[in-house]
Amino acid sequence: LMQLFRPLDLLGWVYRSIRQGLIDMEAMFELVDTRAEIVDAPDAPSLQVGRGLVAFEDVHFAYEPERPILNGVSFAIPPGTTLAVVGPSGAGKSTLARLLYRFYDPTGGDIRIDGQDISKVTQGSLRAAIGIVPQDTVLFNDTIGYNIGYGREAASESEIRGAARGAAIDRFIAALPQGYESMVGERGLKLSGGEKQRVAIARTLLKDPPILILDEATSALDSRTEEAIQATLDNVAENRTTIIIAHRLSTIVNADRIVVLDAGRVAESGTHAELLRAGGLYAELWARQAAERALEEAAE
Ligand code: ADP
Ligand code: MG
Repeated sequence: LMQLFRPLDLLGWVYRSIRQGLIDMEAMFELVDTRAEIVDAPDAPSLQVGRGLVAFEDVHFAYEPERPILNGVSFAIPPGTTLAVVGPSGAGKSTLARLLYRFYDPTGGDIRIDGQDISKVTQGSLRAAIGIVPQDTVLFNDTIGYNIGYGREAASESEIRGAARGAAIDRFIAALPQGYESMVGERGLKLSGGEKQRVAIARTLLKDPPILILDEATSALDSRTEEAIQATLDNVAENRTTIIIAHRLSTIVNADRIVVLDAGRVAESGTHAELLRAGGLYAELWARQAAERALEEAAE
């Protein structure tokens, strides 16, 4: 009987290995590479990042031709400043981040970094300049140390520890039996949404890019951890061109400028104070969230 089982075990092992390979590949695509449609022109130059001016110029986009998602979005982020993008779920906020990272090309208009159309430069040079903390982080089936160090080639152990401290995940890692050598991902330790987000933040701290995209980067964290990490993220964003996509408006009141996206258009923009005074969609969202916060506090 044992003789019969062995080949099956082997088959199971082969199957799992192949499946795992596919999962790793998917993660790779999420993290670094891109879809087949996005190709570099044969003579594409590298992006030359100067001060880091990011501009969307009349950008249109649709995932499927019959369903437009962005309908002429324009804004500029002066070098080193922070732009917050807020708005209802489904407004197209994450799509803006995906276009800037060039997971997709706009169907109209263009996106420029220091005057260079991002669809004309190499994807490698573009992505090297941008750090992104996405809404859902995919981890490699490797050690937690590898997953953090992935943000920069040849990161030293102490740099990885420093980044983990910055992302408030160092103590969590230290408490694991195998510390930084612990395997994570599908085959290893399953991390919670908040822990994965902190790994992504640590990775970005290590990458130290001139342009930063935070897509609801603290949304999976409890409010105490969020406050701790918010301070770190504020530091990281300092003197760096930053787009913060936020659900909780309380996290972006200090942004240099806020764009309110609604149904794929810029509904309004300004500072927190200006938008409150304008009494539009932002003021409405703010009032609603303030009421929710008051209720939560009363319940505690
Ligand atoms: P937000 O981040 O503001 O909540 P998104 O930019 O993620 O919104 O999505 C905007 C719209 O695009 C949503 O209606 C969403 O369902 C749709 N969408 C997002 N990703 C895809 C996709 N890969 N294919 C088709 N539709 C998509
Ligand atoms: Mg989103």
